[in-house]
Amino acid sequence: MDIKALYQEVILDHNRNPRNFGHLESPTAVANGYNPLCGDKITLYLQIDDNTISDVKFDGCGCAISTASASLMTQTLIGKSIEEAEDLFQRFTTALTDQKKNYPELGKLTVLEGVKEFPSRVKCATLAWHTLHQALARSEEAACTE
Ligand code: ZN
Repeated sequence: MDIKALYQEVILDHNRNPRNFGHLESPTAVANGYNPLCGDKITLYLQIDDNTISDVKFDGCGCAISTASASLMTQTLIGKSIEEAEDLFQRFTTALTDQKKNYPELGKLTVLEGVKEFPSRVKCATLAWHTLHQALARSEEAACTE
């Protein structure tokens, strides 16, 4: 099996059995994302304790790429600090829009990097991450006004 076939298998698996699919009863931050190009919708629920993401879930409906990306993202986020999560958001979105080089430091998220060969699908793969970015920004605001 070549590496692209393997990546495709991972994406299909996450689409069939999305990890952390559902919602949290009392999340500390929630955000909605919508990708009009494809019709993907996602709601992201975050539980942040002491600057650390202790739980995360998502629901919504979208194409295989958007669902797999959200699933992989939630797996990556648990236990990360807000700064680490923001850093990953920057690296992931840069990796998917930079045609010039590969980003080996993406770890298991690398399976989605092939999407950049299909510019119209990049927004599917980054939707969950933009939604995360929004949720984190909101949670910062909330912390400041308490
Ligand atoms: Zn899509």
